[in-house]
Amino acid sequence: MTRHNTVAVIGAGPAGLLAAHELSEHGISDVVVIDKGKDIHQRRCPMTQYTKCFRCQPCSILCGLGGAGGLSDGKLNLRADIGGNLAEFTDQPEELVEAIDRIFLTHGAPQKMYGTQVQELQKRASQQGIEFVPIPQRHIGSDRLPAVISSLHQDLEKKGVTFVLETEVQEIGKNDRFTLHTDRGDLTADYVVAAAGRSGADWLSRQAAQLGIPARHAPIDIGVRVEVPAMVMEDIVQKAWDPKFRIYTPTYDDFVRTFCVCPEGFVVMEDYGDYVSVNGHSAIGRKSANTNFAFLVNVTLTEPQENTTAYGMSIASMATVLGGTMPIVQRLGDLRTGRRSTRERIQKSYVKPSLTTATPGDITMALPHRMVTDIVEGLDHLSRVIPGVAQDSTLLYAPEIKFYSMRFEVTQAMETPLPGFFVAGDGAGVSRGIVASAATGMIAARGILAKEGQKIKD
Ligand SMILES: Cc1cc2nc3c(=O)[nH]c(=O)nc-3n(C[C@H](O)[C@H](O)[C@H](O)COP(=O)(O)OP(=O)(O)OC[C@H]3O[C@@H](n4cnc5c(N)ncnc54)[C@H](O)[C@@H]3O)c2cc1C
Repeated sequence: MTRHNTVAVIGAGPAGLLAAHELSEHGISDVVVIDKGKDIHQRRCPMTQYTKCFRCQPCSILCGLGGAGGLSDGKLNLRADIGGNLAEFTDQPEELVEAIDRIFLTHGAPQKMYGTQVQELQKRASQQGIEFVPIPQRHIGSDRLPAVISSLHQDLEKKGVTFVLETEVQEIGKNDRFTLHTDRGDLTADYVVAAAGRSGADWLSRQAAQLGIPARHAPIDIGVRVEVPAMVMEDIVQKAWDPKFRIYTPTYDDFVRTFCVCPEGFVVMEDYGDYVSVNGHSAIGRKSANTNFAFLVNVTLTEPQENTTAYGMSIASMATVLGGTMPIVQRLGDLRTGRRSTRERIQKSYVKPSLTTATPGDITMALPHRMVTDIVEGLDHLSRVIPGVAQDSTLLYAPEIKFYSMRFEVTQAMETPLPGFFVAGDGAGVSRGIVASAATGMIAARGILAKEGQKIKD
């Protein structure tokens, strides 16, 4: 027999979990959350959590209870205009962020807050023509995050929410209600919250096209991961765990920014099958001698080619070919002098790479000249605020690419033009981070609650 629920949530990432939380707190507990990945405690890359994987399907790093955030660094950026722009969807965006913070705290996020004493840093940046974005932040840590997610999961189950894991939604149909065809049978629901994340974005775009929901391409961020001795950024990360600096470069007037700073962290590889990319994380119980961060150039394309994903993938593929299926690592000094980094040069380098499997090479052969110029100019400029960040020994890993999903047409309540079909999170192009995706999940839930309330009144 086909099972029926009032609400079916596709995806157990922050967006899906917080949608279920909001619904169950306000009287709709007849909610099923479906995810193709595993329970948080069973998620693990076959080799290790963060090195080259064996391309398991679905990817344990991106899929399962907790979503892509499940095994992540767990940096909570507690600002309504970071990782998305919540003011587009609500008049009280800060209230939403506070509510999400309270939920994470209830489930074990640390009390310690970063980013509140940063006026001096803001001034230092300002004096150099760099914008520093002050953000209250918490750092849960990749080693502590599973316990937080597990606690939220148990709480939701107690409230009546059902979790159907290791089950992939393959097709969404719509008659008088929605039918989700999964690899384990069908489910029906009055409402759907599609919160499929980056890993489900392509699938969701195809479903949306079939259901007649309009979507458009979003900008993309392309660049490198920078690795420096932890001491270089020590004084800054003590105040702001993930400091965000924004720079316009002199030659091209392009927008470059720091992103996902990982103090005493590790550079990691993400394997997408056809190409690789790099990322970073930092744990509470395990430290490296380096700090790493993404340094990204924002790219928007206009006609005749607006497809930023295809553009990003072609760059990632080029870098992957050059790296022999691994990311490339190069010393900034080698890049400046126009020579390839070799294993010998990396070995004698003052900064020891935390991703030891990266191939020493030449990033200028993989990234467009404009981006390389932006990165070098941007780092030189940044070194006026962070002395030492643009030394010859600084390591650059490529490619680091932040693909964003197609942006769906939605109302302020996250409802698509198809009544009852709500979207949320990174997979719908409305967020790029744990807090923002969680917030859009809550907004979608509130949209459903409002519609149900209206039904009762009618
Ligand atoms: C290594 C790493 C580190 C990160 N660090 C941070 C950080 O420190 N701070 C921060 O703010 N952000 C971080 N992020 C980003 C953050 O994790 C995401 O922005 C966030 O998880 C997005 O939430 P979401 O709910 O929209 O989607 P996801 O978390 O991606 O969840 C989507 C879920 O949907 C499931 N799914 C997809 N398609 C289907 C389908 N057809 N059927 C069933 N299930 C499906 C997937 O299995 C997945 O579990 C990091 C990401 C990565 C990969």
